[in-house]
Amino acid sequence: MSSSTGPSAPPPVNKTLDLDGHDLPPSPTPSSPSNGKNKYSLATELVYTESNDQYNASSVPIYQSATFKGEGNEYDYTRSGNPTRTHLERHLAKIMNAHRALVVTSGMACLDVITRLLTPGDEVVTGDDLYGGSNRLLKYLSTHGGIVVRHVDTTNPDSVAAVLSEKTAMVLLESPTNPLMKVVDIPTLSSLAHKANPKSLVIVDNTMLSPYLQNPLDLGADVVYESGTKYLSGHHDVMAGVMATNSPELGDKLYFPINASGCGLSPFDSWLLLRGIKTLAVRMEKQQANAMAIARYLESNGFKVRYPGLKSHPQYDLHWSQARGAGAVLAFETGSTTISERIVAAAKIFAISVSFGCVNSLISMPCRMSHASIDPATRKERALPEDIIRLCIGIEDVGDLLDDLQQALVRAGAVKITPDGIEPLEVPEGETKKTRDLTDEP
Ligand SMILES: *Cc1c(COP(=O)(O)O)cnc(C)c1O
Repeated sequence: MSSSTGPSAPPPVNKTLDLDGHDLPPSPTPSSPSNGKNKYSLATELVYTESNDQYNASSVPIYQSATFKGEGNEYDYTRSGNPTRTHLERHLAKIMNAHRALVVTSGMACLDVITRLLTPGDEVVTGDDLYGGSNRLLKYLSTHGGIVVRHVDTTNPDSVAAVLSEKTAMVLLESPTNPLMKVVDIPTLSSLAHKANPKSLVIVDNTMLSPYLQNPLDLGADVVYESGTKYLSGHHDVMAGVMATNSPELGDKLYFPINASGCGLSPFDSWLLLRGIKTLAVRMEKQQANAMAIARYLESNGFKVRYPGLKSHPQYDLHWSQARGAGAVLAFETGSTTISERIVAAAKIFAISVSFGCVNSLISMPCRMSHASIDPATRKERALPEDIIRLCIGIEDVGDLLDDLQQALVRAGAVKITPDGIEPLEVPEGETKKTRDLTDEP
C-alpha cells in the first residue's frame, strides 16, 4: 500500500478513490458527500449503507487482522488502513458533509493529529471556556512545542479579531461550550480568521451537538472533529474520535500522522462506533426532548439555567442560525457549592460521571470533575462558577427524570416543599440565587 512507503497525490474530488488514491468499489455509495448534497435526509443516511461485502453481510464485518497478504493490494497493514475502518470513515464523510473523514482512538487523538499541522512559532487562537483536555494539550504545546496559544472570549468577534494576525495558523472553536453553553458565531469567526491569514485553519470541536445537529464545514470551518465517545457511539462502551474536511490536501496531511503514529481506530472499535451511529437520530431526538423538559422545569423553579433551547439563552438566535437543535447538555447554578454537592449526591437515576452523550442521564460538578485539570484561578478568570451543575440527559422516561431531580433538589434544600408542590427558595429582595454572596456558605 502506498501509504506505508510515502505520501500519495491528493485524490481528485469527483472520483471515488480511497484515502491513498486507490480506485475502490464505492462503500457506502452512491450518496457520496463530495457532491455536497446527501441523497436522503440525515436520519436515513445514518442507517443507510451499501457495503461491498462478498456475502452481503448486513453488518459490516470486523476485519480483525493486522496484516493482509499480497503486494500492491488495497490493504496491507491495519495501521495504514483496514476495511472496517474505511467503511466507517466513508459513512462518516457522508454524514458530516465532508470529502473525507478519518477515525482515531479518541477525541483528544483528533486534536493531537490536527495540531501536528502546526510548526513552532505558530499562533493558535481559541476560547476561554475550552474542554479541559483540549486546554491541557494546548498548554503542553505552548511549553514544549513553541506554539503560542491565545485564549479569548470567542463569543465576542471583536476580541477574536483583536488577536488575529498573519501569524494565526489555527483558530479552535467549540459551540456551544461545555459547561457554560456559550455559543460562538462560526461563520463570522471563520471569515475573520481567513481574512487575517488565508492559510489559517478554522477547526471546530463539534462534540456537543454531533453531525445530527450541526455541520461546521457548511459554516466555514476547514476541519471539524468530535469525540466519538459521546453522541456518535451513545453507549459509553467505546472511545473514538472522528475528524473531517472538504479539502483533499488537508485530508492527506491529517492522514499522515495517523499512519505515522498508529492512532487509527481499531477494527472492533470501528465496528462498535458504526453500530452506535445508526441510532444517533432517535437517541438525539429523545435526549433533546427530555433536556428541554428538564431545562424548563429548572428555570420555572428559579434556577439560572444555561441551555440554548431556552429563549432566555443570551445567544438563542445565533445558536439556531447555525444549528438544528439544542443538544442534551445543560447546566444550572444553585448559588451554593454545598447545595450543588448535595444535589449531585442525592440524585439516583442521574449517575455521577464525567462525559456525556450516553443513553443514560448523568450529573456532575465540572469544577470537581471534567474541568478539574484547569486550576481554580484560571477557572475563576474564565468565569466558571464553582457551584455549576451539569446535566447530560439520556433517553429515560422524562417523568422519572423529573421526579428524581425534584427529590434531589428537596433533599439538598435547594427548594422548599409547600402544600401545592415545590417552590423556589426565597431570595432576599434585589438578589437572585446567582448574585447571593457564596463566601459565607457553611
Ligand atoms: C470528551 C470531549 C473531548 C475529548 O474526547 P475523548 O474521546 O474523551 O478524547 C473533546 N471535546 C469535547 C467538547 C468533549 O466533550
